[in-house]
Amino acid sequence: MLKLYNSLTGKVEEFKVTDNTVRIYACGPTVYNFFHVGNGRSFMMFDTLRRYLEFKGYDVKYVQNFTDVDDKMIKRANEEGITVAEVAEKYINEYFTDADGLNVKRATVHPRATENIDGIIALVSSLIEKGHAYESNGDVYFRVRSFPEYGNSLLKQSIEDLASGARIDVSEIKEDPLDFALWKASKPGEPHWSSPWGEGRPGWHIECSAMAKRYLGDSIDIHCGGHDLKFPHHENEIAQSECANGCKFARLWFHIGFVNVNNEKMSKSKNNFFTVRDLSKVYGYLPLRYFAVSAHYRMPINYEPGIIEQAKASLERIHNCLTNLKFLAKNAVDGDLTEEQKNYLSSFKVYRDRFEEAMDDDLNTANAITAVFDLIKQINVSITEGQPKTVYETLAHKVEELIEVLGLLPKDEETGDDDAAIDALIEERTAARKAKDWAKADAIRDQLTAMGIILEDTPSGIRWKRAEK
Ligand SMILES: [Zn+2]
Repeated sequence: MLKLYNSLTGKVEEFKVTDNTVRIYACGPTVYNFFHVGNGRSFMMFDTLRRYLEFKGYDVKYVQNFTDVDDKMIKRANEEGITVAEVAEKYINEYFTDADGLNVKRATVHPRATENIDGIIALVSSLIEKGHAYESNGDVYFRVRSFPEYGNSLLKQSIEDLASGARIDVSEIKEDPLDFALWKASKPGEPHWSSPWGEGRPGWHIECSAMAKRYLGDSIDIHCGGHDLKFPHHENEIAQSECANGCKFARLWFHIGFVNVNNEKMSKSKNNFFTVRDLSKVYGYLPLRYFAVSAHYRMPINYEPGIIEQAKASLERIHNCLTNLKFLAKNAVDGDLTEEQKNYLSSFKVYRDRFEEAMDDDLNTANAITAVFDLIKQINVSITEGQPKTVYETLAHKVEELIEVLGLLPKDEETGDDDAAIDALIEERTAARKAKDWAKADAIRDQLTAMGIILEDTPSGIRWKRAEK
């Protein structure tokens, strides 16, 4: 039974859905730059939750948006001398390059704010009709005091607490300093759309309420986001959606902890960030995924020098076990399993059970990885040569199905299509060595090294593996 922590209740709860479908909305990136490791951790952990729900047999509808118009986008467009739409196009492509590298699956839908202006305008209009919002000078604001529960959902503060702590912002435009913008009149040179309130553009919070409604309905099962989005962004989403739709917005809120650098949150504003792109050039992508899943998603993790290096070494132990099993399978023959071999294979079930138990316990990926390592250790100490092919293939599958949930499966290009070409080169090199053509043998070895292939001599022949990228 899966249990997850719910930021709404502050408790770990049994996860239930009425049918077999889980509707998830996740706040995606503002696409004005490469994303950093802190944001990347969120995307990877949302993806791990999704993969685990799929592993448990749920049908997951996963929506993650792109914020493609806001102040940061406009600033970046002016700096680069291109349009906001061009900035968006560029960094959406870069997002996919990095997300694919990190084994973050594509969402069912990746909607963009600018493609949902009609839905946003409809939602704002309905909030005005119901008395929850008002127009002022071409802007539209949400009337926070019209929703008495405001602040209680995630922040756990009352409106009065918030009001007493609020900066006194004397404004002719807003009725109350707590009110927040749903729609903003556009300034000259900014992207703008026609609306009942004049030319303008949406505020940030409203886009998520509009896109969740359009793609998943008025009520969703899980809403994901970084810890820093709890307030005001998520509190505002709840206010907008519940006032407009008259029902509960999200049943469970799933928030990811920070990545810290020297005990301070990694963020663009503090300029203490590392982009996923830059680190991937040094270590490859999957060590970053390992770094993310090796900690519990709610806990802060500290990014320090050497930590990705360690992640890479740990990941190599897992991948080497798979390489080894595949090598044994390739050289093994088909044959029926003896009772003893069948019992041997079923003795590994305990590791899958332990993996599932850890993941059911509020997605404890740290303990789940321990179960994977114990599985690998047991394979490494017990495996012998000369078994039927099925034995090795079954064991490889047992490792793969678990690491796939964590997003740690080696990439296609690392396991993939050029296997036959590499085997052919190795055979050619072996023949050259037999013929004592050392120059040719060395040249082939250099070629393989350049391809990232590492050769090892073993009693059963030359074994090869790919260097982690
Ligand atoms: Zn959002």
